[in-house]
Amino acid sequence: MYPWGDDRPFYGSARYYRNTFECEIRKLSIDAGFSCPNRDGRVGVGGCTFCNNDAVSPRYADRHRSISEQMAAGREFHARSWVPGAQWLVYFQAYSNTYAPVEVLRSRYEEALRGEDVAGLIIGTRPDCVDEAVLDLVAELRQQHYVAVEFGMESAFDATLQRVNRGHSWMDSVRAVELCHERGIPCGGHFIIGLPGETDEMILQTIDQINTLRLATVKFHQLQIFRGTAMERDFESHPESYRFFTPDEYVSLLAEAVRHLRPDTAVERIVSEVPPSFRHEGLGWQGLRSHHVINRLCARLEHLDTFQGELFR
Ligand code: SF4
Repeated sequence: MYPWGDDRPFYGSARYYRNTFECEIRKLSIDAGFSCPNRDGRVGVGGCTFCNNDAVSPRYADRHRSISEQMAAGREFHARSWVPGAQWLVYFQAYSNTYAPVEVLRSRYEEALRGEDVAGLIIGTRPDCVDEAVLDLVAELRQQHYVAVEFGMESAFDATLQRVNRGHSWMDSVRAVELCHERGIPCGGHFIIGLPGETDEMILQTIDQINTLRLATVKFHQLQIFRGTAMERDFESHPESYRFFTPDEYVSLLAEAVRHLRPDTAVERIVSEVPPSFRHEGLGWQGLRSHHVINRLCARLEHLDTFQGELFR
């Protein structure tokens, strides 16, 4: 039995939610109609080179419908995985979900929280898109509900962040997390493994930086190139600065990353699946699903007789 409470060699999200709630948790992703400062010119234009929100949002998350309507559609979509007594976390997923005046944010968050069987919210945003007023609102809502903030951080290397036009630095991520910690708000971070120019060594150095943040959750996924993005054009011009992992290479690197990752940060995701129609041709893993990759990671860690945090100092 590992410190997180089961015998899986890494601290997975199901265990995290079981440790946090006294019930099963399911997620409803919604598109609350916000924009992104890296698209509308406030921080940048064109957005991150890899960005395609349509590729990663479920079809029921339609920004032209109200939050309540999207939640109703999401309940139907997930009906088969629902178990009696479970609760929902509403995931504000698309674009930057703290990018609006505080009173607008309050009304959208509160609409979601009024839903039936809703245990709380997960608010996805950019590290440079939170300030004290927004986080004070989150802290206020946390007095009654679970509310976490997830930041797209992607890499700890500023050169990489510039290369993919993130429009923020690693220090922005550090500052955003500090502001959350000051208010007792749990935070998550998203990271992409295999961004252009990054070596295995750099990815493991990013893990060391993640460890300093004391995140509640972390999400990783392999780099995928979506059709029609700036990254697709960059890849076609400079294929030599991109590398794509085979599933075995990816799982080996991930196992090493997990050995270094602190044991109290739950790993919520290790791989991303998008419909093939969104992906640049030839770059998929031919039908390999997320649960196959998770099983391979467990097998790899068991084969190495290791576990999350073994090398964390
Ligand atoms: S911050 Fe998010 S929504 Fe904005 S461009 Fe980047 S990936 Fe897209």
